[in-house]
Amino acid sequence: MPIEKPRVLLVEDEPTLAQGLADALRFQGYECDIASDGEQGLAMARRGSYDVMLLDLMLPILSGFEVMEALRGEGSRVPTIMLTAKGAEDDKVRGLELGADDYVTKPFAIRELMARVGAQLRRTRRERGDGETFEIDGVRFDLGRLTGFRGEEEIVLTPREGEILSYLRAHQGNVVTRDEFLLEVWKYPTASVETRTVDNTLAALRKKIETNPADPQIIKTVRGKGYRWGA
Ligand code: CA
Repeated sequence: MPIEKPRVLLVEDEPTLAQGLADALRFQGYECDIASDGEQGLAMARRGSYDVMLLDLMLPILSGFEVMEALRGEGSRVPTIMLTAKGAEDDKVRGLELGADDYVTKPFAIRELMARVGAQLRRTRRERGDGETFEIDGVRFDLGRLTGFRGEEEIVLTPREGEILSYLRAHQGNVVTRDEFLLEVWKYPTASVETRTVDNTLAALRKKIETNPADPQIIKTVRGKGYRWGA
């Protein structure tokens, strides 16, 4: 597979929030591990090779600050986004001084968090040149970096969106049905589910990449059947 799934470590002690975030990240094509206290988070960050760490600050056993300080003290460069409480300006400054790369303030929209995670990934993957690259309809895609450029305008892709483009391109000339997407890209165990997942995701992707989403040139609709690559 040309898309290497980015790995996210989520250090968050509030179980409902942690589960909701992990589900959202996995839906977008990330791998996500959860640590529920600072000590566990530190141990997992030391062991695993994560692309991004999402770090709550108020945590049991070790605080997010202590985790950050320990990791940076050991030379770990894992890109870290702090999850901070509203109004806690001092926390943001302290976290950034300890080496965190960015922060989002609770409560935050999933979209915003995804954009921040994507930004950290692009930063760390910029030097890598091993991804699938191609140009279509004036957009230069680099799926290894999950990015595309139309002129100077940068388009940020989620891992799932990258997989969709890669799959359609690999099967150009064929119609890819919704069921096939669910089985092959989302890896659903069965496609016999009523879901708008594919259409909704494709609609969002078109908004990002097509000059005119109402007249798509990159991802074509085959009425009543599915989608096909535009080239
Ligand atoms: Ca907390």
